[in-house]
Parts: sequence; C-alpha cells; structure tokens
Amino acid sequence: MTAFVAVVAGVLGLVVGSFLNVVIWRVPRRESIVQPRSHCPNCDTQLENRDNIPVVSWVLLRGKCRQCGESISMQYPIVELLTGVLFAAVGARYAYSWALPAFLVLTAGLIAISVIDLEHFIIPNRIVYPLGISSVILLAFAALLEPDWHAYGRAWLGGLAAFAFFLVLHLVVPGGMGFGDVRLSFVLGLFLGWLGWAEVLGGLFTGFLYGAVVGMVLIAVGRRGRRQHIPFGPFLAAGTMTFVLFGPQLVDWWHGLGR
Ligand SMILES: [Zn+2]
Repeated sequence: MTAFVAVVAGVLGLVVGSFLNVVIWRVPRRESIVQPRSHCPNCDTQLENRDNIPVVSWVLLRGKCRQCGESISMQYPIVELLTGVLFAAVGARYAYSWALPAFLVLTAGLIAISVIDLEHFIIPNRIVYPLGISSVILLAFAALLEPDWHAYGRAWLGGLAAFAFFLVLHLVVPGGMGFGDVRLSFVLGLFLGWLGWAEVLGGLFTGFLYGAVVGMVLIAVGRRGRRQHIPFGPFLAAGTMTFVLFGPQLVDWWHGLGR
C-alpha cells in the first residue's frame, strides 16, 4: 500500500512539476498561468503534446527546442524530477493519513516559491495566498476525517506563533527578512504545528541552520558579500520539508541526546 501510494504520488509529481515550471516562469512576469499553452521563450513556437512530457521530452530533444534549436534550461527537467521525488517521499510518509493531499500541495507550493525566490528575490503573494488558503481548507478536511481537531488547533497555533516570531524578526532586524518570508512562515508553522510542537521548533530552526551554513559557505568562497542579499525562502522551505519527511525520527533522536 505504501509503495503504491508513493509510485502514484511520484508520477503525479512529475506532471505537477511540469506545471510548476509554467508557474515559476510566468508568475514573476505577471503572465496568466492558464493561457496560452507552453511555448519556447526564444522562438515562441507552442509545444506539441509529445514535447510536453515531463523529463522524457527534454532528454529526447537533448535539451533543445525542436523548432529553433535554442537550448532549453536544465532547470525544467530538474524541477520536474525534484517534484516527482519529493511527492513520492511525501506519499510514502503520509500514505495512511488524510493529510496527504494537504502535504502534497505544500510540497508543490514550496518548490515554486523556492525557485522564484532564488531567481527573483521575491515570494509572490499570488502563490503564498492560494497556498495558505488551500492548506487551511485541506487540513480541516483531514481533521474532520481522521478525526483529529486537536492537531488542527495546534496547526493554527503553530502558524500564528511562527508568523508572530518572523514578524518580530522582520521589524527588529533591518534589511534582514522580507515580509514575504513572514507570510510564508504562517504556512510553514501551520503544517509543522499539525505534526507537533517539537516539529515547529525543529523545522524552523533547521531552516535557519541551512541558511546560516550556506550563507557562510557563499561568503567564504567569495560568491556573496557579507551585506549582499541571500534569499531565505528556500532554506525555510527545506527546513520544513526535512521535518515533514523525517520529523518523528529527528524528534526521537533529539530526545535521545538528552538521556
Ligand atoms: Zn524555439
């Protein structure tokens, strides 16, 4: 059963990843994500169905547009593969939970947000708001079906606590965290809160840890100045996904250290 859910989620992830590529390209450019169909950014030719298969098309075309031969960024198949792998992992982890759809939506949203933040240094409201609203609704369905309203209440408290904490950071540390990160933190706290309070602390702390480590490495190798901006969204997202996938193991490990 777990393997079956993982495989189905993984295939779904490849397709969703293909859609995320459209979102990642169009949302920061304020284009519609529905119309028109996908087209080559260079020659504008619309993609045929056979050239729109996740990962496979890119490999068959050897990363070049069929019409004009312009190379197609490796980012496309990478986003598709990443989404497929993470969906499979989330599917395996939540195969027996009604919260699975909510966690898949979270995964997709965080991938789009992370890539856009890395490229444009923004976390678009056009993604965070729909992600937040659908998360609140999907987790409410999960709470109803499980049934576990206790977890749902804790999710809200986790989201509000994370939001308050990031808001204070945003106000106290000038030029530090953007308000996009503050909005995003509500969604992260919501899902981590659904899992437990230890996950809220662990997931957010791990996000800071990732950001600090990568930031120091970038400064050390001279790729970024001390005062240059480093997008924070991807690290927060990675910290949360770490606890979404390995929360119980990491919390157990942490408790074990105290003994
Ligand atoms: Zn082309």
